[in-house]
Amino acid sequence: MSALAVVHRAEELRDRLARARGAGQRIGFVPTMGALHAGHRSLVARAVAETDLVVVSVFVNPLQFDDPTDLEAYPRTLAADTAVVAGAGGHLVFAPSVEELYPGFPTPPAITVHVAGLTDRYEGAARPGHFDGVATVVTKLLALVGPCRAYFGRKDAQQLAVVRRLVAELLLPAEIVACPTVREPDGLALSSRNGRLVGDQRRAATALYRAIRAASDLLAAQPATRAEVQAAMAEVLGREPAIDVDYVDVVDPETFVPVDPPAGDVDVIVAARLGAVRLLDALPVTVPPPLQRSAPVADAAPATPLSPHR
Ligand code: AMP
Repeated sequence: MSALAVVHRAEELRDRLARARGAGQRIGFVPTMGALHAGHRSLVARAVAETDLVVVSVFVNPLQFDDPTDLEAYPRTLAADTAVVAGAGGHLVFAPSVEELYPGFPTPPAITVHVAGLTDRYEGAARPGHFDGVATVVTKLLALVGPCRAYFGRKDAQQLAVVRRLVAELLLPAEIVACPTVREPDGLALSSRNGRLVGDQRRAATALYRAIRAASDLLAAQPATRAEVQAAMAEVLGREPAIDVDYVDVVDPETFVPVDPPAGDVDVIVAARLGAVRLLDALPVTVPPPLQRSAPVADAAPATPLSPHR
């Protein structure tokens, strides 16, 4: 397939993908809510490199918003999003209406998906119902797309854990690929919410990245407890009066249970508010065994920088 096509109906998407599979093509899938930026583009580019037909869904999922104002304010920019997907070499954009995915909306759907346990904490606690909405829409989209490689960003580390769990437990035929976070040159993770930072908030927001780097540097340098990691992060964030911290922690990437003392593969996570804007960041860190403490930490390098020309 060459030119990019935009499809609004589930049935048409299913037909196109069935034809592609019949022709021996491997399907790559990138679920998004649109307002695409270089972070999303990197997911599409990776899917293009690893599969034959790449479909990007653009759907602002009402089920995952706990705040109606936030849902209303979420940017909807399908024409620009389509250009981003085309520029990254993607083949299909799936942009369904709300009614296409939730017949009878706004009547609540009869079936929702709840991933117990790991959604009780952090984002799940801060945003009641959020992960049920995410799990429900991802389940529907993966069931519709069928066997595929599906690409998700590591910035939303708990979402990645939720998706991995539902794919494993529901035996969905998708291979989940975790992608590094694309950042501004000063470390701020790209997010559709960054545009709402005003005045000094934009500069202050870089403290999230500095905090997760401080945690990963500490874990690389010496044995540290969970409390010491949290203190190192809180110290960095505490220097910015514009920042209200929701949580800082070091967790198991699969269960999102805190790890104390941190060992092996962990995720360092932060959520904080700057005025009305709530930002997340995360960094996967491999804590070296004590004897190799001076060795470099795998995957703690700043993730893909956003080069100036992008
Ligand atoms: P969203 O449309 O914001 O829900 O995000 C769609 C996908 O893009 C999710 O898998 C996110 O984790 C991923 N994503 C968002 N921001 C970034 C970023 N800065 N770098 C890499 N992936 C990202």
